[in-house]
Amino acid sequence: MPDGAWDREVDFLVAGAGPGGMTAALVAALEGLNVLICEKSEQVGGTGATSAGTLWIPENSQSRDAGYIDSANEAGAYLDALIGDGGDARRDAFLAHGPKVIDDLVARTDLQFVACGQHPDYRNNLPGAALSGRAIIPEAFDGRLLGREFRRVRPPIDEFMLFGGMMVGKIDIARLLGRYRSLSNFAHSIKLLLRYFGDRLRFSRGTRLVMGNALVARLFHSLRKNGVPILFGAALRDLVAEDGRITGAVIETGDGVINVRARNGVVLSTGGFAHNEKYRSAFMPDPTPARSMAVAENTGDGLEIGERFGAMVTADRAGSGGLWTPVSVTRRKDGSTGLYPHIILDRAKPGLIAVNSAGRRFVNEGVSYHDFVEAMFRSNEVVPTIPAYLICDAQFVAKYGIGIIHPGTRNFAPFERSGYSTSGVTIEALAEKLSIEPSALADTVRRHNRFAAEGSDPDFGKGDTELNRFNGDPEHGPNPCLGQIAVSPFVAVEVWPAELGCSAGLATTADGQVTDRNDTPVKGLYACGNDMGSIMAGTYPGPGTTLGPAMVFGYQAAMHAAHTRTD
Ligand SMILES: Cc1cc2nc3c(=O)[nH]c(=O)nc-3n(C[C@H](O)[C@H](O)[C@H](O)COP(=O)(O)OP(=O)(O)OC[C@H]3O[C@@H](n4cnc5c(N)ncnc54)[C@H](O)[C@@H]3O)c2cc1C
Repeated sequence: MPDGAWDREVDFLVAGAGPGGMTAALVAALEGLNVLICEKSEQVGGTGATSAGTLWIPENSQSRDAGYIDSANEAGAYLDALIGDGGDARRDAFLAHGPKVIDDLVARTDLQFVACGQHPDYRNNLPGAALSGRAIIPEAFDGRLLGREFRRVRPPIDEFMLFGGMMVGKIDIARLLGRYRSLSNFAHSIKLLLRYFGDRLRFSRGTRLVMGNALVARLFHSLRKNGVPILFGAALRDLVAEDGRITGAVIETGDGVINVRARNGVVLSTGGFAHNEKYRSAFMPDPTPARSMAVAENTGDGLEIGERFGAMVTADRAGSGGLWTPVSVTRRKDGSTGLYPHIILDRAKPGLIAVNSAGRRFVNEGVSYHDFVEAMFRSNEVVPTIPAYLICDAQFVAKYGIGIIHPGTRNFAPFERSGYSTSGVTIEALAEKLSIEPSALADTVRRHNRFAAEGSDPDFGKGDTELNRFNGDPEHGPNPCLGQIAVSPFVAVEVWPAELGCSAGLATTADGQVTDRNDTPVKGLYACGNDMGSIMAGTYPGPGTTLGPAMVFGYQAAMHAAHTRTD
């Protein structure tokens, strides 16, 4: 790139305004660099805006202050047991720096976190696993602080909002459902509703932001306070290298292509390869799952562009390329389809089973969303299990809801008409509609109901782990995760695998520097978030498995770029 040919010159260029990229940009600005973000869409937040916003940060100080003692060494032992002792320097750096990164962000920015308290690791029977103290969530954020720029925060998925625009977190859901059980629940529910309907007089959706939306809005707010510009509708298309170092990038904007010089380097944080067929078929199980929870803009640009400059894309050790959740397919009011992730609200509750096309259970339904889908993949090798079916009865739906069918629902006809669920007056009638052998499904339900009466599940152990019970119903006995499926009509919801995040990605150092086939850093090139190969190697240790590392390595990359000599 000849001198004078740059359209713009900065110290540090960040491609992608998700949680990873925004953290890198914010930290670089705080360290004194002149930073620019280019964001392909018209809004910040990426998939992060639609997420639950939980971060897995072992030994974090927010939990310690709340009285939950944890140890990063124990967490290391847990990861060794789960992943295998890979001797990964990035894993060590994550454990060593994670709490300090969060503390520094809290001290210097508008990011604020709350300890989740009890929130079991997802394989809580392994050595080193914790039942509490590792997960933190962002504090709720008042979107009104952004003024007109609130429109720049990507909204959550429709399926996660009430009344077409009201966000509720896990605690809100419990209080709304129990609104007649206590005065304080009732008062909280009324407050939420008044705030929401007041907001709608001025804004396109509610401004009380929680979960991932609070996380990205807080990052955006801090970026604005620190004067970091964001080019919207601006996609990274290429990099520029001079003397073996990345010194700039080519960005496609609505006004044409611009060349941006980035003296201290470029961060690839374009959210991974979710919508890139080539990488999906290379790294994901066969047949390649078609559905993804990632935003449509995440088309693997960071990986493809990085590869052109010597970067290496690595498969994860587990070989499934993604961090998974079962999803049901919804039909939205505008006729488009959406995906509802069955993360925590229904599968572990008493009175629900998951079956394959043979009408047989194949998994402990209360395992983590990732482990549930891994079980679908394994079962599918023997008998078609994609899709699988969540089966329950009318009583279950009335009490807990299933997917987008809210608790209290008694009329399933609209859901059946839209194709969301299938109902049957008997289990056999339901099975016939699903093209499952009726006697097989009836046998499965009978066997399960016997286990429910006895309070233990010798086939799959539903209710045996702390994680199962955490998501079960503590008021139900003898087993909080096992209940009768007996009250007609019976209901089925079809579920498919979809990834919440990619786990295959660019190889990097512990500083977030992208590396080549010889493990040598590509100078001036960094990656974080889902563009970086997951340090968890395709496993899902606990709540916040992707956002914790995304923010820690965004931070690491910015620190490296800010404090390493470029000449
Ligand atoms: C329902 C749901 C719940 C989840 N809950 C959690 C949770 O609680 N904890 C957790 O750890 N993880 C969770 N996840 C996963 C998490 O949201 C993602 O792993 C995370 O957002 C990845 O961050 P990122 O910054 O890499 O990418 P993203 O958040 O997807 O951001 C990438 C950004 O890059 C932009 N972009 C793409 N291409 C370009 C380009 N060429 N140039 C410029 N910009 C580009 C995109 O428009 C986007 O804004 C959840 C996901 C979903 C869907």
